[in-house]
Amino acid sequence: MRRGIATVCLSGTLEEKLAAAAHAGFDGVELFEPDLIGSRLSPREIRLRAAELDLAIDLYQPFRDFEGVQPGRLEGNLRRAEAKFEVMQELGATLMLVCSNVSSDAIDDDALAAEQLHALAGRAAEHGIRIAYEALAWGRHVNEYDHSWRIVRQADHPALGVCLDSFHILSRGTGLDAIDEIPADKLFFLQLADAPHLVMDVLQWSRHYRCFPGQGGFDLAGFTSRVLSAGYAGPLSLEVFNDVFRQADPTRMAVDAKRSLLILEEAMQAPSARRLPPPPDLHGYAFLELAVEPTSVGQTQRLLNAMGLTPAAQHRTKPVTLWRQRDVRVLLNAAAPTPPGVAAIAVESSDPARSSERAEGLLAPVLARQRGPGEADLSAIAAPDGTSVFFCRTDVDERVSAGHWLEDFEALAPGGGPFTGLDRIDHIALAQPFDYFDEAVLFYRSVLGLEPLESLELSAPSGLVRSRAVTNQSGSLRLALNVPLLAHDTAQPAGLQHVAFECADILAVGEQLRARGLVPLAIPENYYEDLAARSDLDPGLLSAMRELGVLYDTDHAGGEFLHLYTQTIGDRLFFELVERRGGYGGYGAANAPVRMAAQRAVAEAGVGAGALSG
Ligand code: MG
Ligand code: MG
Repeated sequence: MRRGIATVCLSGTLEEKLAAAAHAGFDGVELFEPDLIGSRLSPREIRLRAAELDLAIDLYQPFRDFEGVQPGRLEGNLRRAEAKFEVMQELGATLMLVCSNVSSDAIDDDALAAEQLHALAGRAAEHGIRIAYEALAWGRHVNEYDHSWRIVRQADHPALGVCLDSFHILSRGTGLDAIDEIPADKLFFLQLADAPHLVMDVLQWSRHYRCFPGQGGFDLAGFTSRVLSAGYAGPLSLEVFNDVFRQADPTRMAVDAKRSLLILEEAMQAPSARRLPPPPDLHGYAFLELAVEPTSVGQTQRLLNAMGLTPAAQHRTKPVTLWRQRDVRVLLNAAAPTPPGVAAIAVESSDPARSSERAEGLLAPVLARQRGPGEADLSAIAAPDGTSVFFCRTDVDERVSAGHWLEDFEALAPGGGPFTGLDRIDHIALAQPFDYFDEAVLFYRSVLGLEPLESLELSAPSGLVRSRAVTNQSGSLRLALNVPLLAHDTAQPAGLQHVAFECADILAVGEQLRARGLVPLAIPENYYEDLAARSDLDPGLLSAMRELGVLYDTDHAGGEFLHLYTQTIGDRLFFELVERRGGYGGYGAANAPVRMAAQRAVAEAGVGAGALSG
């Protein structure tokens, strides 16, 4: 199956777009006319450039407002088309997209449209060119694909067929049954785009919010399967208009786009698709690596210590200490070549080799590791946000097989501190770079085989934050990905990250933390007044929560979530403790605005101003 991408998806000059598409391994491009018009290259030079890059020009697009016009205007429109046919011949392109007329004086007459498209196809055929007719969702009279097909059928010219565009069809909720009625040799082209479910003008929705398959809310796999089973044999071509993608690095976006097609093909179980290794079962976090600045090492150690983790082992060759409470493992790296915060997450995989094969198949950058003699060879990849992701298997056997990552560490002391009740790493929240949020969500879910939850908008003192969680079925692996809704200027520091630990009894753990001198994030009294008013929580429980800075949330199924936050280390990282009751599956998003306001208050008041509330 050939894969293509429209030049309009990417930022940059036409040369940069072509280079990015070729680098990502696409077979062809749709040449968006404004990209040609704005290019310094002549059509002939563009043809040569594309050929050098081994890229076909699959489609020339778009040609507008052609059909359903007053007969007196037809000749002018045909002349306009002839000029484009000549350009296409120079380009070596043989398929032109004609989208349905949007002009207010278009005539609602299928026979007239068919007759005029027939005339156009006749002229095109003289140049060896074919016409793909596409119903725009906002076309004046033709805005459904089955309508465009009826007109094409009526026109009955071998050089005229339809172009199906998933956005135009799925955004209107048009039934898909008529796809089967279109003969395979009339399915000239297929354009794929996903989009989030939004209630807004369809033109604005299309021009600004399209995204790559798997990044929005449409069933692209179901739709594309229908088109393929109807006999479509052309390329799977992405046509995405997106404000953020068009300002992002084109090379990265093209790789993201290619990844989206690989996942789509996997979801469709397309026979021609290269088989990706299926995602192995993941069982939570093996460890987490925190990069700490020298000035923050003491504060981080005090926090970990207060939460009950103890330094258990030292890396044999690196300034990395393993802090641990039972199976909760945190590596503190005082010399990581990364910004402070979560430098790496290591997931427990039932088959680490297959996990990394899958990641490579999905175009994840594989990290070269500096490995000392005798050190475990961990497979690691780089996520779009710069976090390293390791795949490992700690639970095989305590007899420690060769290649076991814990072998790299020398035990500092037997035993460890008293058990304070931390059961596991519950979730990790990672701030994402503004331009690459959709890429990051798709990356984590596809590489790790996770499911995304609904995208949320949270209100912070500095603006709105978009948040999307991805999780595996058992809930043992949860990530929350956050990004500002609107771009900040680049001088803004990267957003906060946090690591949440789960415990069985947060009040007991909260008491222990207090006894160990941990000062949680101060939650305003107003929060508890409101909580008392809107819930029927036991007054004793409420006052204990107030005492310990514990927040509360419930879900529709009666699940409950109790959680508290630590102070922030160096403007970047904090910890959370959570207790899940009754199968609560969320993250306490309702409390995030309170948390962010409280953190802002602490930051404004200066370091160390936090105190126990109540
Ligand atoms: Mg289209
Ligand atoms: Mg959280």
